[in-house]
Amino acid sequence: MKQADIDDQRHRSLPDAQLLVGGQWQAAQSGQTLDVVSPIDGRMLCQMAQAGAVDVDAAVHAARAAFECGPWPRMAPAERKKILHRIADRIEAHHTELAVLGVRDNGTEIAMAWKAEPGSAAGTFRYYAECVDKINGEIAPTPEGTLGLIHKEPVGVVAAIVPWNFPLMIGAWKIAPALAAGNSVVLKPSEDASLALLRLAQLCLDAGLPPGVLNVVTGTGAEAGDALARHMDVDILTFTGSGPVGRLLLKASAESNLKRVYLELGGKSPNIVFDDAVDLAQAAKVSAMGIFRNSGQVCVAGSRLLVQRSVHEELVDRLHKIAASVRVGDPLDVTTEIGAVSSARQLAKNLAAVQAAQEQGARLRVGGGVLQPVAGGSYMAPALFDAVTPDMTLAREEIFGPVLAVMSFDDEDDAVRLANDSNYGLASAVWTGSLSRAHRMVRAIKAGVVHVNTYGGPDITVPLGGVRQSGNGHDKSMHALDKYLDLKTAWIQL
Ligand code: NAD
Repeated sequence: MKQADIDDQRHRSLPDAQLLVGGQWQAAQSGQTLDVVSPIDGRMLCQMAQAGAVDVDAAVHAARAAFECGPWPRMAPAERKKILHRIADRIEAHHTELAVLGVRDNGTEIAMAWKAEPGSAAGTFRYYAECVDKINGEIAPTPEGTLGLIHKEPVGVVAAIVPWNFPLMIGAWKIAPALAAGNSVVLKPSEDASLALLRLAQLCLDAGLPPGVLNVVTGTGAEAGDALARHMDVDILTFTGSGPVGRLLLKASAESNLKRVYLELGGKSPNIVFDDAVDLAQAAKVSAMGIFRNSGQVCVAGSRLLVQRSVHEELVDRLHKIAASVRVGDPLDVTTEIGAVSSARQLAKNLAAVQAAQEQGARLRVGGGVLQPVAGGSYMAPALFDAVTPDMTLAREEIFGPVLAVMSFDDEDDAVRLANDSNYGLASAVWTGSLSRAHRMVRAIKAGVVHVNTYGGPDITVPLGGVRQSGNGHDKSMHALDKYLDLKTAWIQL
């Protein structure tokens, strides 16, 4: 990652963004557009087609036609594998362009976006490319004279609705396994981060993905997203985003064709530091960045820090120093540690949460205000709250901003009770020098992932998904393929 290469990309003027339907780039049929505004400096980057129900319908029809009549599901698995690898090749060849484009759109610090966005998307396409020819059926242990075959078939048309925090990474987590299983996809990116995914779609076409296999409809959630969720010819809907929208999608499915709905939602993840943690300095550093990176806009962020009382002061002092000194700045500067909040709207939401927490009696140790390292942009000083109690909104609701809530506990039972006192169950972490305690905590915590002596970092080989109101289903790993496959039984009398 070189600053000169990034600077070379950052001022490029961008063409207006269109929809991809059946392999053709086109405007919305209504001609309506949305302004794409960069959170880096508040300037408009371009305009983007605002799809309506009629455009969504056209995209679903194109996806259906590609599935029923096109070559993709019929292609030899080895051929599909080659195309998915070629997509990964193209992502790698356009790494800088994709990373900078995404950052201009959503404000993530480039140091993080560089790895998490094109880097991770390319790896995800390679991983699922290698899965294509390993999707085996089964022969059931049936009585003599019969044969039971279990086929695994693509489901058909997959709708994928994704958020703005890591558009390429999360988009790839859905697109790549869906395509590997032989499906067609209609993708609805977030209105706050569509550009990198549109570029990815063109790279997919360039790599030889047949027209109509991947379609992209940009626009608002209320219009394009809702039309997709209610479409009668979508077979499954895979979603990453907020809980409230997840509820709307379940309702849309119930009121339309009962499409399967997979939800990857938010969290209020507990990060638990015991007094036998081996390295408190490391625990403080990793825990701070576990909530502050990407301005806290990370679904698995450790937003609730539970600290054993005997090390509380030491840890909070360390966190205070980190929060006060971390470099919030221009996201396209390679030395920046925390970039912009994704939009002025999200910044206002974060600030309101900080104010509400103070009103409820939490103690703001540092941060929580607006910064302006680049004029016109949306930036926030990471906030550290102490004296948080389990009933406070700050301890219960996801903010999706750089706001850390610190609470104390006395012993292991107390830590488990506090950790599980949540409607969510996405991620968590435990810092301890005791192997036995680590394993006990892994079993006791209700969450989709428990980190031990680290925060973040699991790669594509392991599943990511939540329990409780953090959702159902999993992205990543071989398990994600199950979402995009139907089982069919052949029962044969011999
Ligand atoms: P969001 O729910 O506001 O939007 C997500 C997507 O849904 C966007 O594309 C949006 O346009 C669309 N949408 C909005 N309203 C819709 C509607 N009525 N019908 C259909 N689609 C609609 O979420 P966001 O603000 O973009 O992202 C932040 C949320 O995503 C946080 O809650 C975060 O925790 C969650 N998230 C979860 C994971 C995970 O893996 N569990 C990963 C990243 C983000």
